[in-house]
Amino acid sequence: MRMTERSSDLAGAAGSNGDTSAAASRLAQVWAAVINGTSYVSMSQDEVVDYLGGLSTRIFEILTGDPFNARPAWDIGVDLVDSHFTSSATLERSIALLGDEVRQTMPELSVERLSAVQGAIAGGYGYALRQRTLHEQEAIREAVLDAREQAEAALRASEARFRALFTEAAIGIGLADVEGKMLDANLALQQMLGYSLEDFRAYHLHEFLHAGDPESTHEAYRQLTRGDREFFRAEKQFFRSDGDSVWTNLTVSLVRGPGGEPQYQLAMMEDVTDRHQLQDRLRYQALHDPLTGLANRALFLDRLARVFNRPEPDRRVGLCFIDLDGFKVINDSLGHHIGDELLVAVAKRLTSTVAPNDRLVARLGGDEFVLLAERSTGTEQLIEMGDQVLDVLTEPIRIGGHQLSVSASVGIVERPVIAGGSGDLVRDADVTLYWAKAEGKSRWALFDPDRNAREVARFRLSATMPAALEREEFYVDYQPLVALADGRVIAVEALVRWQHPEHGLLAPDRFIGLAEETGLIVQLGRWVLEHTCKQARRWSDEFGDDAPFVSVNLAARQSRDPALVSDVEAILRKTGLRAGQLQLELTESAVMGTAEDQTSALRKLYDMGIRIAIDDFGTGYSNLAYLRRLPVHELKIAGSFVEGLRVAGKPDPVDEQIVGALVTLAHALGLTVTAEGVETAAQAERLRDIGCEAGQGWYFARPGPPAAINRLLAAQRRR
Ligand code: C2E
Ligand code: CA
Ligand code: CA
Repeated sequence: MRMTERSSDLAGAAGSNGDTSAAASRLAQVWAAVINGTSYVSMSQDEVVDYLGGLSTRIFEILTGDPFNARPAWDIGVDLVDSHFTSSATLERSIALLGDEVRQTMPELSVERLSAVQGAIAGGYGYALRQRTLHEQEAIREAVLDAREQAEAALRASEARFRALFTEAAIGIGLADVEGKMLDANLALQQMLGYSLEDFRAYHLHEFLHAGDPESTHEAYRQLTRGDREFFRAEKQFFRSDGDSVWTNLTVSLVRGPGGEPQYQLAMMEDVTDRHQLQDRLRYQALHDPLTGLANRALFLDRLARVFNRPEPDRRVGLCFIDLDGFKVINDSLGHHIGDELLVAVAKRLTSTVAPNDRLVARLGGDEFVLLAERSTGTEQLIEMGDQVLDVLTEPIRIGGHQLSVSASVGIVERPVIAGGSGDLVRDADVTLYWAKAEGKSRWALFDPDRNAREVARFRLSATMPAALEREEFYVDYQPLVALADGRVIAVEALVRWQHPEHGLLAPDRFIGLAEETGLIVQLGRWVLEHTCKQARRWSDEFGDDAPFVSVNLAARQSRDPALVSDVEAILRKTGLRAGQLQLELTESAVMGTAEDQTSALRKLYDMGIRIAIDDFGTGYSNLAYLRRLPVHELKIAGSFVEGLRVAGKPDPVDEQIVGALVTLAHALGLTVTAEGVETAAQAERLRDIGCEAGQGWYFARPGPPAAINRLLAAQRRR
């Protein structure tokens, strides 16, 4: 049994220490009352309360432990027996009481934890009792051996001692001859199995063995009858004359004659049926979900661990992780009662998809289920299972007058057992389930190691970004925007780079999207803006009116940042840059179809005198009518439209018309146009003829450090 679980399951369950100690002393009081008289102990009632108080404190510590570990509860069971609590009734009542009390004082505590602790206590109790019985049995065996070995004179006394032990013993004792033919049975044994002495005498010992006994018991008995072993012990099931089952702790010993030859077989047994059933029940509870009766998470993890513990060479294993779509809505709107019934119905349908062996259906908690193929024949089989799951859920489920349509998302992983551990398998199934959800639910997704590796790499990169920003691993390159009429540098665009200590130089495409997802873009963007404005101020100081304005990219998320306007104002103030020397580039989607307050932020920046450009114009969806109401100065035409103008003399007529139309439109709205991605002289020429004001691209200059811009500006001044 797996006895650990995530501690978060317990969040809020354990009260403060004060609550726990109050609960423990209350438990001790009730406990002492409940077991009073069930076992003979030589303690006063106050001493019992005191003693149980100690145990109760330990129990609460175990229940609320983090990490959870039920093993020490075993010792509590042992402790009880050592303190002479030795009856099944004591155990049964203790376990039942513990369940009631804990459910009352800690309603949030998981059933699995409680059952695991109950199971461990019962286990320890049973174990210690059995040890005690074995000691008793040993005493009797020694008396028998003594009886044989005593001298003639002492024989009678010894026999009397044996007789007394035999008749009065609370445990069942049977004596058989060397063949196993029953000779004698004491009263306890007659009552235990429901046979009279006459009935017994018609039996051979071996007739009490049956197919349900483990092979080890059969083998031990064969060895004993051959004289190859002196005794054996087993927990063994017997069937009474009325057919009922009795579980016993059994010891069978060989009694040898004076010459050492086997003479008798002596069987001694204690009835442990109550304890056995209780332990069975607790074991079942600890491993099953009370609502649906399916295996629970503990059993699932246990079965999975078994698959991986002794990996066989060609063995494969597969999982379908199942999560119902929109279960929360049903639960919240129709009530938990309906939600519970729905889960039960789903559990039934899922069970119907699997053959009873080799596949386990478990409920992991909430609306999460799993199908485990402990011996998968291949990916095909798991996909088929995934299809079946979707299939059995298509029919609406009728509950209390409602027709409920449910669907599920399924994450499938299938692989050779030797390819990893059970933890990897579960984690990958979880990731894959998330893919199925993200791709639109009501479907299965199959684990893809490449995709997973990419996502993990992306995740790692995004996790290291904040530290990278602090360590100044980012820097900015600048690329000129050149006037097509006279070739002068009128502006430079700031393009951020990441000098990554492991991955080397990273282009913005590798990290800008990530930064947008995590929100770090706001900080990163602010850093780029300030860094660029400082540089712009230097150019302004050195080149005066000939200094270019700087153009800084603004991510959509930044443009929605409420602090945008005040951030920009603060940076301008700090760097002493004039507003007219700064341009902000926004994509179409960031500008169009935006909320009022966002346009008003743009409007404020515009009114401050900052230039606003629309980046990559023509690649997004633009509402042209809307464009005229926006505070914008410039359109930057995406490089893809400029491509068709590469080759001198034969421009692509469609691209040429598009660029022409965009330029006409821009001019009609009073905007200037910069064409991006200009790589050839032919493109620069065509663009100038079409009427573009400026161009940007490798033909003029690649992005580079400020020093490269300095050289361009200095050369320009000389001209
Ligand atoms: P963008 O704003 O369209 O920037 C122009 C990109 O085209 C730059 O790529 C530039 O190096 C590249 N380029 C320039 N001339 C040519 C040419 O002649 N041919 C070709 N094929 N490409 C040329 P880069 O630097 O890799 O930047 C990629 C994108 O990353 C930028 O596209 C921009 O959207 C984004 N980005 C860069 N820096 C920042 C930043 O500081 N903030 C934000 N939010 N985004 C940024
Ligand atoms: Ca840009
Ligand atoms: Ca662009």
